[in-house]
Amino acid sequence: MKNKIAILGSTGSIGTQALEIVREQSDKLEVELLTGNSNADLLIEQALEFKPNHIVIADETKYAQVKHALANEDIKVFAGSKAIAEIMDITSADTVLTAMVGYSGLLPTIRAIKNRKRIALANKETLVVAGELITKLCEENGVSLIPVDSEHSAIFQCLVGEDLDSIDKIILTASGGPFRGKSREQLAEVTKAQALKHPNWNMGAKITIDSATLMNKGLEVIEAKWLFGLKPKQIEAVIHPQSIIHSMVEFNDGSIKAQMGLPDMKLPIHYAFFFPYRIPSDFKRMSFSEVSNLTFEQPDLHTFKNLALAYDAMDKGGNMACMLNAANEIAVDAFLKDKIKFLKIADINEACMSKVQFVKHPTLEDYIQTDKEAREVAKSLL
Ligand code: NDP
Ligand code: MG
Repeated sequence: MKNKIAILGSTGSIGTQALEIVREQSDKLEVELLTGNSNADLLIEQALEFKPNHIVIADETKYAQVKHALANEDIKVFAGSKAIAEIMDITSADTVLTAMVGYSGLLPTIRAIKNRKRIALANKETLVVAGELITKLCEENGVSLIPVDSEHSAIFQCLVGEDLDSIDKIILTASGGPFRGKSREQLAEVTKAQALKHPNWNMGAKITIDSATLMNKGLEVIEAKWLFGLKPKQIEAVIHPQSIIHSMVEFNDGSIKAQMGLPDMKLPIHYAFFFPYRIPSDFKRMSFSEVSNLTFEQPDLHTFKNLALAYDAMDKGGNMACMLNAANEIAVDAFLKDKIKFLKIADINEACMSKVQFVKHPTLEDYIQTDKEAREVAKSLL
C-alpha cells in the first residue's frame, strides 16, 4: 500500500523538495492533496504531474485560472485560506506535510490533527504559536508529530530506542547565517540581498531572513521544547558553521549522540515520510575527505538578540511566543519590502513583547486574538 501524502505549501522550498521525493519513490508514495498560496502556474504544473484528488489555491483570485487549466482532469479544485483547513475533513491522505510558511500553518494543522492524520511537521511556527494546545490535541487524538526541521529530525533520530527521561539536554546546531561574527555596527547597514544569501541552505525568503537574525534558532528552541517535552534549561544552541552535525542529544550518563549528513532538506523529509523505516536513497553522500573541519562557537546573544527574546518567551510561556512570532512575521515582511533596516527586526519583536496583553493559559481564541493584536502593534512600530 502506498503512503498517501498531502503537501500544504507544495509550491515552496520544502514542498517542491517533497515532490522530488515522491517522484523518486513513486512505488511507495502518492500525492492526495496539494496546496499553494499564489503561485498558480506551479501548482497547476504539479497537479498535472502528480494527479492529486484535491488541490487548494489560497489566493481566491487565482481560482478561475487553476480551475480552467485542470478542466480535463479528475482533480477537485478549491480556493481560499479556509479551504486548506476544511479539506482536512475530506482528504484520504495518511500523512500531511505542513510546509506552509508562518502562522498560516496553524489552523490547517489543527484540523489535520483532529482528523488523526500523521503530521510531518515543517511549519515550526505552528508549535511556536500554540505548542501547548497542539501537544494536547495530539495526545487526545493519538497523533504523532514527525519533525522535518533538520535539527529536530536529528534529535528525533538520536532518540530512537532511548528513554526520554534519560535526556540531560539537547544541543541544537545553527550555521550562524550570513552575518556570523559581525558586530551590531556592521549589521546596521546590511542589505536584503546580503541577508538572503545563506551560506549552507537554500530556503524560502522568510526562514532565510530568520536564519540571518537567529530568530530561526529561537523558533527552533521553542519548537524543540514542545516536540520533546523539555524544560527550557535543557535546550542549548551552538553555532556550527559547517551544518554537518544537524543536532545532538546529551544523555544522563554523559554520552552525546549526534546526527550528521550533508545539509539537504530532502533527507529529513524522506525520513519523516517513511518513519519508522529507513528507505534507501541516492542522495549525495558526505565524504570525510572533503569535510575536514567541524567547529563550534557560542551564539552572540547581544548582537543577535532575537535568540535571547525567544528564550525569554519560552520561559514566560502563555501567549508570549505567539506574540513574538506575529511581530517577527510583520518585521521580516517589512524588511523584505525594504521598509525597515535589519536591526529593527529584533527591536520590533522586543517592543511588541511588552505591549501585547499577556495570557497565562491561552485558548485557541486567545492565540488568534494575540496574533492579531501583535501584528497591529508591530505594524504601528514600523
Ligand atoms: P516557502 O516560502 O518557500 O514556501 C511556503 C509555501 O507556503 C508556499 O507553497 C506558499 O505558496 C505557501 N504559503 C505562503 N503563505 C501562505 C498562506 N498565507 N496561505 C497558504 N499558503 C501559503 O517556505 P519554505 O518551504 O522555506 O518553508 C516552509 C515551512 O517550513 C516554514 O515554516 C519554514 O520555517 C519550515 N522549514 C523550512 C526549511 C527550508 O529548508 N526551506 C527548513 C526547515 C523548516 P506560494 O508559493 O504559492 O505563494
Ligand atoms: Mg532548522
